[in-house]
Amino acid sequence: MTGIQNHTCIHCGKADSQVPLIVFNYQGGEFRICTEHLPVLIHNPGDLTGKLPDAENLAPADSD
Ligand SMILES: [Zn+2]
Repeated sequence: MTGIQNHTCIHCGKADSQVPLIVFNYQGGEFRICTEHLPVLIHNPGDLTGKLPDAENLAPADSD
């Protein structure tokens, strides 16, 4: 066992058998988010509070 290695979206919990998942590294960990919720990570990272460590401290990317 190597800890939590669920291949699911951190936001909706869908598995990679259902949706395409983007893998990213953050704070030494490996996380996955589906293509549908990738914009949440980019524009509204605060919505991932409780699902991603320190998500409330992430700055949203503004298209300016
Ligand atoms: Zn998702």
